[in-house]
Amino acid sequence: MAEAFDVVVVGAGAAGLMCAMTAGQRGRRVLVVEHANKPGKKILMSGGGRCNFTNIGTGPANFLSANPHYCKSALARYTPADFIALVERHGIAYHEKELGQLFCDESSKQVVRMLLDECGAAGVRIEIGCGIEDVRARDEGGFALRTARGTFHAESLVVASGGLSIPSMGASGFGYRLAQQFGHVVLPTRAGLVPLTLSGTHLERLQDLSGVSLPVEASCNGQSFRNFMLLTHRGLSGPSILQISSYWQPGDALRLDLLPGADAEAFLRAQRQARPAAELRTVLSEQLPKRFAQRLCEAWLPNRPMRQYGERELRDIAAQLHHWPVTASGTEGYRTAEVTLGGVDTRELSSATMESRRVPGLYFIGEVVDVTGWLGGYNFQWAWASGHAAGEVA
Ligand SMILES: Cc1cc2nc3c(=O)[nH]c(=O)nc-3n(C[C@H](O)[C@H](O)[C@H](O)COP(=O)(O)OP(=O)(O)OC[C@H]3O[C@@H](n4cnc5c(N)ncnc54)[C@H](O)[C@@H]3O)c2cc1C
Repeated sequence: MAEAFDVVVVGAGAAGLMCAMTAGQRGRRVLVVEHANKPGKKILMSGGGRCNFTNIGTGPANFLSANPHYCKSALARYTPADFIALVERHGIAYHEKELGQLFCDESSKQVVRMLLDECGAAGVRIEIGCGIEDVRARDEGGFALRTARGTFHAESLVVASGGLSIPSMGASGFGYRLAQQFGHVVLPTRAGLVPLTLSGTHLERLQDLSGVSLPVEASCNGQSFRNFMLLTHRGLSGPSILQISSYWQPGDALRLDLLPGADAEAFLRAQRQARPAAELRTVLSEQLPKRFAQRLCEAWLPNRPMRQYGERELRDIAAQLHHWPVTASGTEGYRTAEVTLGGVDTRELSSATMESRRVPGLYFIGEVVDVTGWLGGYNFQWAWASGHAAGEVA
């Protein structure tokens, strides 16, 4: 005999738990089915163990999607302030790190505990370590899920199974396959918020500087992010690179401003005037990490005493420092990516409820949908907001 629920949520991650507690609070009988061995694994590992659970500046401009309008309604109806109020009700201490990013003072475990407590209080049942074998629409309406723990019937089915990033944490293509099974279009997926790899001479020249970090402005396809860049043994990482990686595709030009906010030409001219005998690498070492400045001057820039540079050459060096071209060979892929770009096409989903326009009672929330946030708490805010929107109606 199948057990019947009003709502079955697939995935006990950020979006799934928020949806389950919201639906449970409305008196719906809710089951969450999770195939991993514990709930909220990505929440636990997020923000270096402190969970960057929201960003107080969240707005639609912080998201990538084929339909940039889609996220507006849900984000407006469940805001960072709503989630902060929940966090405060549970006595979780938090702080703003930078750029509106809120982190737990202690541990991301507190966020998972909070969501599980809310689910518990709302009577939500959570089946952990429960794989799903088959899902089908029932002739009499609703859905049947065949799982390792028996068959469950659901009036509403909410897919919150996340993206493909970090397969070792339980990520699977389940949600995409299910969407296709029910006739939905799935837009091509790729790794986002991910380190970029270098190859050839670029890699050879920079590889041994692994660990060096410097502030840059990274630009690609009309988007720019100013923050730190970290050199790694495979290429480039750090917040500015992770951010721009979501806008980069193989073959795209990537430019780095190595002296963001500075006027390199005026600086170099002033140095030539003040210390004509100083070499370029010495002068640049005062603005850039020393080893990096030296490498620039060994491998790319002509290194001479400042007095030997003419006006044109100085202008040219300044221009290179502000528009350093980088040819990335690829990304580190889903193994290290924080998010998956692309996913279930929003054109066949309701932006108010996240419900399928094709199959009544079927919902898609969180990262499985073609809505991807920047680095900095935006992805969790989307998970909370889309989970809440579906939980209010499912
Ligand atoms: C290392 C790392 C750090 C991050 N840090 C941050 C951060 O600080 N701030 C931020 O905003 N975002 C962060 N993110 C991104 C954020 O974790 C995700 O965007 C967010 O978790 C998406 O929520 P979700 O509920 O859609 O998916 P998930 O949280 O991934 O949850 C999906 C759940 O579905 C389960 N599942 C998958 N397939 C099945 C199946 N077939 N059957 C049953 N269950 C299934 C999974 O096991 C998982 O528990 C980070 C991501 C990573 C990888």
